Amino acid sequence: MSKDTLALIAEEIRSCTLCALHQTRTQAVPGQGESHAQIMFIGEAPGFHEDQQGIPFVGTSGRYLDELLRMIQLHRDDIFITNVVRCRPPRNRDPFRSEIAACQTYTERQIALINPRMIVTLGRFSMALFFGETAKISAIHGQPKVENGRIYYPLYHPAAVLRNPLLRATMEADFWRMREIIDNVERYLSGDNNDSTSPQHPQQLSLF
Ligand code: SF4
Repeated sequence: MSKDTLALIAEEIRSCTLCALHQTRTQAVPGQGESHAQIMFIGEAPGFHEDQQGIPFVGTSGRYLDELLRMIQLHRDDIFITNVVRCRPPRNRDPFRSEIAACQTYTERQIALINPRMIVTLGRFSMALFFGETAKISAIHGQPKVENGRIYYPLYHPAAVLRNPLLRATMEADFWRMREIIDNVERYLSGDNNDSTSPQHPQQLSLF
């Protein structure tokens, strides 16, 4: 069997017919980023512009996400970004559970290949994959979970924040917390989330 690569997965996604979303897409949106990215962002679904261009997060939500990344000195080049479904649902409706399940094979293969140290979920559908169906985003956003040597970090979806400006300050605070985690990744992975200024933590290792 040939070795899995991001390019091979992307090629399969572009011709995928595993769920009904292939019938209405302009083109699939496999994901964007490097195979050695330390941080992987997983959102919900492509929208109009993503469907047209085949690139994730290029519309209004994408511009807001870029603004938040810049705020904490991150760039698209630092991350891999994809969605739980890779074809646009008609009229931007929520993805069905069956569609997310069908597309999960690609989610799992991309994660296995990239092996990121941190997975950032954007929105409740992506959160449910890693935190369970009963998790509430309003309760757990901005709270990292460490499992099997990886940090999982749930955030609101940028589109949800744009729809509700009252969430902006919360989203920014969650991004600043993410920066703090990135700068102290070994401490978080060890399960010790106490004050990083403590003399017990003389060595802070960053992802970058
Ligand atoms: S959403 Fe995923 S599973 Fe469904 S057709 Fe597109 S690539 Fe295939």
